[in-house]
Formats: sequence, structure tokens, C-alpha cells
Amino acid sequence: MTAAALAKSFSRQLTVTLVESEEIGIIGVGESTVPHLRDFNSLLQIHEADFIRQTKGTFKLGIQFNDWGRIGDSYVHGFGTIGRSLGLLDFHQYWLKARQLGWARDIGRYSINTLAAPQGRFMPSPADAPANTPLADIVYAYQFDAGLYARYLRSYAEGRGVRRIEGKVVEVQQNGASGFLESVRLENGTTVAGDLFIDCSGFRALLIGGTLQAAFQDWTHWLPLDRAIAIPCEKVEPPTPYTRVTAHEAGWQWRIPLQHRTGNGHVYSSRFMSDDAAAAALLRRLDGKPLADPSRPIRFAAGKRAKLWDRNVVAIGLAGGFLEPLESTAIFLAQSGISRLVQLFPRRDFDPVLEQTYNAQAQFEYERIRDFLILHYCATQRDDSELWRYCRHMSIPDSLRDYIRLFADAGRFYRNGTELFAVTSWVQVMLGQGITPRSYHPAADWVSEEDLKVYVEGTEQAIARCVAAMPRHEDFIARHCAAV
Ligand SMILES: Cc1cc2nc3c(=O)[nH]c(=O)nc-3n(C[C@H](O)[C@H](O)[C@H](O)COP(=O)(O)OP(=O)(O)OC[C@H]3O[C@@H](n4cnc5c(N)ncnc54)[C@H](O)[C@@H]3O)c2cc1C
Repeated sequence: MTAAALAKSFSRQLTVTLVESEEIGIIGVGESTVPHLRDFNSLLQIHEADFIRQTKGTFKLGIQFNDWGRIGDSYVHGFGTIGRSLGLLDFHQYWLKARQLGWARDIGRYSINTLAAPQGRFMPSPADAPANTPLADIVYAYQFDAGLYARYLRSYAEGRGVRRIEGKVVEVQQNGASGFLESVRLENGTTVAGDLFIDCSGFRALLIGGTLQAAFQDWTHWLPLDRAIAIPCEKVEPPTPYTRVTAHEAGWQWRIPLQHRTGNGHVYSSRFMSDDAAAAALLRRLDGKPLADPSRPIRFAAGKRAKLWDRNVVAIGLAGGFLEPLESTAIFLAQSGISRLVQLFPRRDFDPVLEQTYNAQAQFEYERIRDFLILHYCATQRDDSELWRYCRHMSIPDSLRDYIRLFADAGRFYRNGTELFAVTSWVQVMLGQGITPRSYHPAADWVSEEDLKVYVEGTEQAIARCVAAMPRHEDFIARHCAAV
């Protein structure tokens, strides 16, 4: 992704050399995304149908959470919007009032994404959809084979002048005075010199961690899951336009449908479950025949490097940090690191303000996502296992505590600057996890009860009509972008 974006953004000014090792390989998991990947693909001028065909991808309207707040609960975190705002208030404020009056339906009925997803319906917003129809509000991401995407981007980057060298970095030369990197030496003796080094070496964090020893901010107290086992299985039904995540006793299981198979994985805490038990639980809960053996346990720790940019090294992807994949944010964080790097691209003098700005923005972005993830764990009524008992009682960051207090009081949410997840996401997950506001915003009383009924029920009916007219997800794929 980094090489492709740099080649596209600075075609004539930069010489990009990519070193990677087939012997080491890639981590090979990561198949579910957030809608921002569409912007990345647009920057690269990648044609959507071609991308879906090549990566055997499907469309994603949101994530279905099962058994999170309590065993038996199910809710969808859909992208897009909930209803339409009116005056200064978001739709959910009027919904809260209707709920207090006793006639509101489930919040999922007021978002086109959330209603369409479980019904297996999908289409993008038509280009000519009038602004006042819910059809204009469809927001989607992708589920795809990340290995195929990497291959696709490799040929894209090589086609635009990126030189790829197959080889293993075994040594790094630093300037004795400044500590800036000067070159890396490969196992076969080749030396690759450079002005800027981008560390995309995955959990190895070869340059940022290994050479520069950048400190690691450990967030495992709040996000205790630290292992994952993945396995693909045969598909047993048409692919759902959503990812499913089901909470288990020591973690959770993902189910990501692609065109040709279903990706599955069990993310768990090694404090509360052994690797063998985790693999057995994963196999037990597959809905199709396994297509491989379970992967070896992938080990990780929630957190990030204190500095993602240090001297002339910028860490992108897992080398910089990792927050567990519950909300599919890792590829987004790589993408966002790449855009930030393009925006703040240094000259040879490496003005320190660029590094400082980069690091401050990245810190903010990671922390806001971190809080959103913690919300799924701390707001639970489950007490059926050690993990959930731990999560119910663990201390949480003050920033998250404030968000919860605001919402629990009168359903208020205030998006902090450019944080990734906005009101739709926070409101759906707060409600889904069982946080019920005591009241609603007093300004909702400006609308009479009669008008409220017309507005809230009208929204629900308009969304239901639009969803009924949407094609089935598998039919849309077959018509526009079936993998060959
Ligand atoms: C369990 C799990 C589930 C995930 N699910 C999702 C998801 O649903 N959605 C999402 O957005 N993200 C997800 N992710 C994250 C996603 O997998 C990564 O963001 C993505 O794969 C990018 O990884 P990377 O390129 O940083 O690292 P890697 O894929 O590990 O690539 C590292 C590269 O560095 C090279 N390398 C390493 N050392 C050397 C060396 N010494 N010399 C030369 N080359 C070297 C390797 O050969 C490789 O090419 C998940 C991650 C995990 C662990």
C-alpha cells in the first residue's frame, strides 16, 4: 500500500525501493475493512469492480455483534447514518424520546445499512439518487482476500516504477552522530541506501523497534486479548454483506464471507484460554468444512510505538502498533499513516516539526480507536467467564469514561475532532452493549408528539421501502463483479 501510494503521489520526484522477503512472508490475515479504503483505491484510480473481482471480494455494510452485552444479544454496527438529523439534533435524540413514549422500534430499523445487512441486500447509492431518499445514505466497505490485494498493489506499484528487491534485511547502518539510518544490508550482501526508510516489517518492527528501540505503549490492561488463530472454511450460503463477530468465553470469533470461501478466526486471551482449547473452539464453531489446518497462534500485544516517526524512519502497519481486529481498523491505520506521510513528506533536512505533527496526530487517532474498542469489553453484563468478569471491573481511560457518562445521561455524543468513529458508530455500539440513556436532549421537546410520530415513523417506513427494492448481495456481485 505504501509503495503504491508513494509511486502514485510522487511519481517523478522519488525513487522507491521495496525490500521484502518471501521466505519470511506476510502475516496473511486481515480481510475486513472500514469504508475509507474506497478513498485509498480512488486515490490510486483503481476500478472498484476490477478490484472486487481480483480480490474475490464482497461488500460490507457493517458488523454483526452476537453475544456481546449478554449471551443471546445481537446488534449490527452499520456504517452510514441513523435516520436524518433535524435542527441541531441527531436523529437518535428523537428516537430516544419516542422510546420514552413507548412506541420506538429497534434502532436498527432507522438505518438503511443496518436494516439491509441482515436481509442480505446490497447496492451502492445510485449516482442519481435524490438527496432526500435513504438510498443516498448507503455507506460500505469491503471484505476481501488481503493476500490477493497485496499482489494486486505490487503489480500496480511495479508498473509505476517501484523497484522490488527480494531479500532479507540482516543489518542496518546508522549515522554515528545523528542516529539517522543510512542503509540496510541484505543477506546476499546487497546494500540499499536511502534518505527515508519506511518500516513495513510487520510485528518484527525491524527498524523502529529493532534499530531505533522506540518505546512501546502497552494497552493490554484495557485490551487483554493477545492471540489469534485463523482458518478458512467452505462457504455454505451466499456471502453476507457484513462481518460477524461472536463473543466467546475467552475472546471472540470472526466470520468474513468472501466470494469463494469464508474466513474465520478466534481472537482470545492467553491468560484465560490455552492455544489448544482456542483452536478446538474455533473448529467446533465453523459453519463449513475447514479448507486448511488452523494457523499457528499469532501473538500480539495491544498498543503502539510512542513514536511512529523517529528520525528518518516511519513505521506503517503492524510495525507501528496493533489494536485487535474487532472493528477492522488495522488496514485503515496503515492507510491513514500513508496519507499523513504524503501530507507531511519531508525534505532532506527533516524539519522536526513534521515528525512531531505526525506523531501527535497518530497518537490521537490510535487513542480514539482504542477507546471505541474498549467500549465493547467494559460495557457488558456478561459474567459467565473470567475474561468477562475481568472486563466488567477493569479501570478504563478517563476519555472513554467521559463519553459513556455523556451518553448515559441524555444520549449525547460529541465527536472529538477527526476521530475515526463518529456518532452513528458510538451510538449503535453504546446501545448495543446495553448502555441506556436516562433521558434525551431537552431540545427534542421542541417537536410536538404528533410531528415526532410523523418524522420517526416516516423514516422507518422510507428505509423499509428502500431496502425491499435493493438487490440481493450475491445477485449484485454476480451482475457486476464476480471473481473469475
Ligand atoms: C489476527 C489478525 C486479524 C486481522 N484482521 C484484520 C482485519 O479484519 N482488518 C484489517 O484491517 N486488519 C486486520 N489485521 C491487520 C492486518 O493483517 C495487517 O494490517 C496487514 O496484514 C498489514 O500487515 P503488515 O504489512 O504491517 O505486516 P506483514 O503482513 O507481516 O508484512 C511484513 C512484511 O515485511 C517483510 N519483512 C519482515 N522482516 C523482514 C526482513 N528482515 N527483511 C525483509 N523483509 C522483511 C515480510 O516479508 C513482509 O512482506 C489483522 C491482524 C491480525 C494479527
